[in-house]
Amino acid sequence: MLQQTTVAAVVPYFERFIAAFPDVHALAGATEQDVLKLWAGLGYYRRARHLYAAAQQLVRHHQGQLPDDPAVWQALPGVGRYILGAVLSQAFDQRQPIVEANSLRVLTRVFGYRGDPRSGPGQKWLWATAEAILPHQRCGDFNQALMELGSLVCTPTTPHCGRCPLAGICQARQLGLQDQIPPKKNPPPITAVTEVGVIIWKKGRLLLCQRPSTAPRWPNLWEVPHAEKRPEEDAPTAAVRIAQQLTGYRIEPLTELITLKHGVTRFAITLVGFEAQYTSGRFRRGPYAQAQWVQPHAWTDYPVSSPQRKLLTALVNSCRQRRLF
Ligand code: SF4
Repeated sequence: MLQQTTVAAVVPYFERFIAAFPDVHALAGATEQDVLKLWAGLGYYRRARHLYAAAQQLVRHHQGQLPDDPAVWQALPGVGRYILGAVLSQAFDQRQPIVEANSLRVLTRVFGYRGDPRSGPGQKWLWATAEAILPHQRCGDFNQALMELGSLVCTPTTPHCGRCPLAGICQARQLGLQDQIPPKKNPPPITAVTEVGVIIWKKGRLLLCQRPSTAPRWPNLWEVPHAEKRPEEDAPTAAVRIAQQLTGYRIEPLTELITLKHGVTRFAITLVGFEAQYTSGRFRRGPYAQAQWVQPHAWTDYPVSSPQRKLLTALVNSCRQRRLF
């Protein structure tokens, strides 16, 4: 959960997750939908699916015991070098390094590494250095301390060198190069995109569709159909086309409900939520794996992404104001 996400954001998710799945058997025995539902909002859903698949492998092949053999961990879905080092050093006190954004910053500054630590040679140097400096005991605590130092003291901008325990040996500090080491990443250019999301009604129920497991983003999550609006289209025209293309249904657009803004990787997305009435047609699998007509308040039983949650919440609030249910 903590990969690419802050501790503060993770804590409530972690507590709910552990309450629902207190051990590896409970996790392995759940459905993927249950797991995704508790993960919904954290993003990077592939991690949840990997965690679930790994729990199933551990139960199936290792009687639900967590092995201390690195080779077994490396064969589990989603376990790369970072997870391997984190689990084995912290759970089993094995001499395994961890490199992530915080320890990367500390190591490059302390040793005055001037190259790009994200390049191939830079990564090689980093992992070799992280391994070379490991103590022979309490490696988990050591790794944790390095990450905490990066998070709290050796911060990206204006590091607190005056209260840093490594100040006496830090090359970047001695050379006054803290703001040049590590070199800043060039942020990718942000592309503005306008999407239309279509809430389709039929006999008091709304349409939820499940993304395919192979979708590059939000695999297996549920949502109302949405896609990019073409520049020449107005929102109602786009709603009609999107509904037809993604579901096979023909619709009569009704009202614009809400406009939301959210960011996904390098896209700044403006999502226009449009309500529409089903008129005809049969569901066609393809863009979506399946679809279900659900009661307006029942969408909370399905795992949905953060922007979809905002859209569906706005819908429910709007329906309440209109006393539709
Ligand atoms: S002395 Fe400053 S730059 Fe060096 S590790 Fe400590 S906080 Fe980071």
